[in-house]
Amino acid sequence: MGVTSTLQPEALQKIGYGLYVVTSGHEGHVNGQIANALMQVCADPLAVAVCLNKQNLTHELVSRSRSFAASILSEEAPLPFIGRFGFRTGRDIDKFTGVDVFPGVTGAPVVRQHAIAYLEVEVDRDMDAWTHTIFVGRVVAAGILSDGHPMSYAYYHDVKRGVTPRSAPTYVVHHKEESTVSKYKCKVCGYIYDPSAGDPDSGVAPGTAFEDLPGDWVCPVCGADKSEFEKIDD
Ligand code: FE
Repeated sequence: MGVTSTLQPEALQKIGYGLYVVTSGHEGHVNGQIANALMQVCADPLAVAVCLNKQNLTHELVSRSRSFAASILSEEAPLPFIGRFGFRTGRDIDKFTGVDVFPGVTGAPVVRQHAIAYLEVEVDRDMDAWTHTIFVGRVVAAGILSDGHPMSYAYYHDVKRGVTPRSAPTYVVHHKEESTVSKYKCKVCGYIYDPSAGDPDSGVAPGTAFEDLPGDWVCPVCGADKSEFEKIDD
């Protein structure tokens, strides 16, 4: 029997992930970001790995502090909450304003809001992964925060209709959008407003043209206003 060599990038989109807020603190600076690539790698010692983009401020803080916290998001977490951590940079805004956190033993602010459990990790080793670094470390604290189901990456995309930032390890480089007229794209996060789908979570019925959206409508993913959208023609 012969072996057929193929490379379908779509196959990688079938990998299952969760969705986490990874936070870190170092010398008075704190930040947090969304990560999907986190996993337990050992039972004894209890150890996990997380994969972070080298350009992210959180990466810098984890590198320096040698520690991080990870909150496991609930399926109930709303898109704007995820967008705040996933699409805004902590270099411009304080992502923690109005967010329920508590101080962790590692110095990271642990996000309690919309989370079902948390871990705190002391980093033992880093592995270079091209654009990203995989930080591996021992779990030094962990706890349950609330009832609920963990948000899966598939649920985020399929049910919450979330999008993936360019900085994520799972970003799809060559998007192929369905050909439809008058879709608009958020320049901040990449969310695409599709008039045929509307924005039911914000009370916008399917069939509503972008031009007819209320003036105070904002991107359901990152909270940007209408002026941050551009028409896409593909
Ligand atoms: Fe957006």
